[in-house]
Amino acid sequence: MCSGRVDLSFVIKAFLNGNDAVYIAACKLDECNYITSGNYHALKMVILCKRIMEHIGLNPNRLKINFMSASEGNKFAETVDSFIKEIKDIGPFGKGEGVDEALLKDKVKEIYKLIPYIKIAMREKLHAPISRNREEWDKIFTIQDVETLFREVPSYWIDPEKCQACGTCLRRCPEDAIIGGKNLVHIIDQQKCIKCGTCFEACPPKFGAVTKLLGTTVPAVISEEKRVINRKSKDTKD
Ligand code: SF4
Ligand code: SF4
Repeated sequence: MCSGRVDLSFVIKAFLNGNDAVYIAACKLDECNYITSGNYHALKMVILCKRIMEHIGLNPNRLKINFMSASEGNKFAETVDSFIKEIKDIGPFGKGEGVDEALLKDKVKEIYKLIPYIKIAMREKLHAPISRNREEWDKIFTIQDVETLFREVPSYWIDPEKCQACGTCLRRCPEDAIIGGKNLVHIIDQQKCIKCGTCFEACPPKFGAVTKLLGTTVPAVISEEKRVINRKSKDTKD
């Protein structure tokens, strides 16, 4: 019922599913049916999404948002018609960009995986009040912002020297990306990890085992034998 509900993930998923374009029809700006101004949230999401599309080589004109009231059926029909024409001129996903469709889809897939990270990293701008001046909108998210965003994608790694196998991170991970077990140093499956940072926040400070890595490769996974935490021998040693 509200364009504010149109999440970045819905748009990216639509492209991932092979759609050539996404059209969002939102209520008129400053005429929100509720008190949430969800249409402004949708607008900001669209601006960010367009910059991301540019970054990966997907034509940003494939995404459009228009604002209208429920009584403006004609406007809806006209804007959809002209958008369809525009998209036909651009061409199908990938072909229109002159790039391999599968390669472009892989890039979209990578973006889809990073959505929780994108939302966390961009949260301040996404929640900041938006200028009513349309000329200011393009400056909210710049291509440089997006380049920095992806340059600084972190990796999360569990330090085997510090992990005490308490299982907190494993229980909190939204993607089942942490492999654990009783008295076993926990490890992160980097393929499944969506970089949400939940494990980093959840690991008790007294252990501080989850490490955030920037601009460096994740150390190799240790062997199964080395993952065993021998608490008894540790006590004896102490
Ligand atoms: S950052 Fe941590 S909690 Fe988030 S998906 Fe990756 S392993 Fe799971
Ligand atoms: S929360 Fe920290 S100490 Fe506990 S299992 Fe995870 S990484 Fe290890």
